[in-house]
Amino acid sequence: MSFKEYYRAFKAYTDINSKEYQRRIEELEPYLLRVMKKKGKVLDLACGVGGFSFLLEDHGFEVVGVDIDEEMIKKAIEYAKEKNSKVKFIVGDARKLPFEGETFDYVLFLGNTTVHFSPKELSEVFKEVKRVLKKDGLFLINFVDMRELLSRVQMGTIVGEEYWINRVIIDKGEKTAVIEYKSERDSFRVRFAIWGKTAVELLAKLYFTPLESVKLDDISYLNVYKK
Ligand code: SAM
Repeated sequence: MSFKEYYRAFKAYTDINSKEYQRRIEELEPYLLRVMKKKGKVLDLACGVGGFSFLLEDHGFEVVGVDIDEEMIKKAIEYAKEKNSKVKFIVGDARKLPFEGETFDYVLFLGNTTVHFSPKELSEVFKEVKRVLKKDGLFLINFVDMRELLSRVQMGTIVGEEYWINRVIIDKGEKTAVIEYKSERDSFRVRFAIWGKTAVELLAKLYFTPLESVKLDDISYLNVYKK
């Protein structure tokens, strides 16, 4: 049971040229650019294969991408070579960032990455984000309200082109949910941390001052915080 199979199955996170990935970029781009008025140094935290890093570089930002998964960073570096990009991609843990304090004007945490972290871990991540942000820096977090999502998910819900949801098992404390995905060829399970909107916002408030929350659709948000 791992995220590796999940990211292998869904191009929305691993193929920057796929329509699914491009759709995510098109959805967020206008909001990112509206908030990020001043050019500066960006940390694309948990950058995956780097699609948002390249987007911001194209708009004149200096970008560093960090992800814990070596395969993701390897692919990001391959894309960077193809694109002649100057984005620096580094393997690293969001809970212990390899940067000095007050380095970045913006930290981006995009693509519902919160599902990877327990409350203790996400709190460590927020603490690190706060440390590496400059005094007037902004933190932008994009997430899905997993409570809402789980209340809507039904057996047989189609995900991507090949898979459907075959089973959802929510733990007793409602902290995590295991979702089983099935296709004609295979099946796999992933355990997601369940972060509702309120929980993300309560935790973020311990570290940052909220500026705005943009509702992207019924269940997903882009929240903006200052240090
Ligand atoms: N932000 C990217 C995007 O929007 O395409 C990737 C989002 S993907 C849903 C979540 C990413 O978080 C994965 O690439 C995963 O490897 C990374 N990740 C998980 N735990 C991490 C950690 N402790 N530190 C850094 N990255 C992590």
